[in-house]
Amino acid sequence: MLDYQATLDWARARDAADPLRALRDEFLIPPHTDGKPSTYFCGNSLGLQPRAVRDAVNAELDYWSELGVEGHFKGRLPWMDYHEFVRDDLAAVIGARPSEVVAMNTLGVNLHLMMVSFYRPTRERPAILIEAGAFPTDRYAVESQVRFHGFDPAIALIELEADEPNGIISLGAIERALDQHGSRIALVMLPGVQYRNGQAFDLKAITELGHKHGCVVGFDLAHAVGNLPLQLHDSGADFAIWCSYKYLNSGPGAVGGAFVHERHAKAVLPRFAGWWGHDKTTRFQMGPEFVPTPGADGWQLSNPPILALAPLRVSLEIFRRAGMRNLREKSLQLTGYLEWLVQTQLAEVLQVVTPADPQRRGAQLSIRVTGGRERGRELFEYLMDQGIIGDWREPDVIRISPAPLYNRLEDCLVFAEAVRNWHRAG
Ligand SMILES: *Cc1c(COP(=O)(O)O)cnc(C)c1O
Repeated sequence: MLDYQATLDWARARDAADPLRALRDEFLIPPHTDGKPSTYFCGNSLGLQPRAVRDAVNAELDYWSELGVEGHFKGRLPWMDYHEFVRDDLAAVIGARPSEVVAMNTLGVNLHLMMVSFYRPTRERPAILIEAGAFPTDRYAVESQVRFHGFDPAIALIELEADEPNGIISLGAIERALDQHGSRIALVMLPGVQYRNGQAFDLKAITELGHKHGCVVGFDLAHAVGNLPLQLHDSGADFAIWCSYKYLNSGPGAVGGAFVHERHAKAVLPRFAGWWGHDKTTRFQMGPEFVPTPGADGWQLSNPPILALAPLRVSLEIFRRAGMRNLREKSLQLTGYLEWLVQTQLAEVLQVVTPADPQRRGAQLSIRVTGGRERGRELFEYLMDQGIIGDWREPDVIRISPAPLYNRLEDCLVFAEAVRNWHRAG
């Protein structure tokens, strides 16, 4: 948008015309010390609580107290099939077929379970390709898998270095890495959106490149799910995993998810098995032989945590009503406005390190504070004192993520004015 203005009147008028504006009232915005809602930009870390979550959790507690074990079969949403009640909405959010997705476990667990099936190193092809500076869990998980299979991470873990400033990795760099190492790479494992610098990756292009070289391709969508409209099925990716407490607003430690492409639905892949992954129609014959349910459901281990799935169900229902495309449209405006404010009003103090091309980012802007770590910490703490909640990444970056479900243009302006006041005060 070219007509951005840095005035409260302008921001409020635009917010009032936003077709998604009512969704904000469906969330509980943590109050600042003055009792007023804080300016919350941390949906990339822990999304806010939908108001409807409390009743949804209480409903399951009531069923438990009133029905006991019968709650598995009775009640509005019987526990036996509970994970299926989130399936269609989850599939819509990531652009998959319903049979390709399952809500289960947490991200790190799912990453390991997927690698058990999809990282099958051989002497000729032992390597995993990840990005340099990957999230610690991802780094630890792939390294431990490499070791588990008896390979040496110094040889079998390839960390792709950035070829653009601020840790940004071009598609060309991925292509070159695959041209160079592709025949040794068993698994390409990259993020949907990089957690530190906010770069969004082209899942389809990466998958095509990886497959061309005979690699399996998986994605960590922790920062992409509920942020960008994804077409995971069409991307052709072999698998993906994510957590649900960031943009999906499903609460601390929420139930994560996994995607397994349809082409693997019936494949006889090695996997770690549990009774909930057993063919649903014969699960309760309790036989000794594991027969997987076709599709992503076949990777489940345990009967799901109902009290933790209830918030996910509520949250996904909001996504269904909002629509990922509408959310993305609003997100582009919010993040575009934030970027414009930083560039036109705050260039002396802040520098955006997230790619400028909206196609290469989601909601988050990672913003470097000029003057180094101490100045950065000072600003960050000032913002927190003002009730403006972002998060800090060493050594000098503040991540600010306007979430289109509950943030407004006004919030971006509040942020910019606070930074300006801090800067003026010296
Ligand atoms: C948030 C995040 C995680 C967290 O993993 P958990 O298993 O949910 O604790 C892992 N990887 C990435 C890239 C993340 O952004």
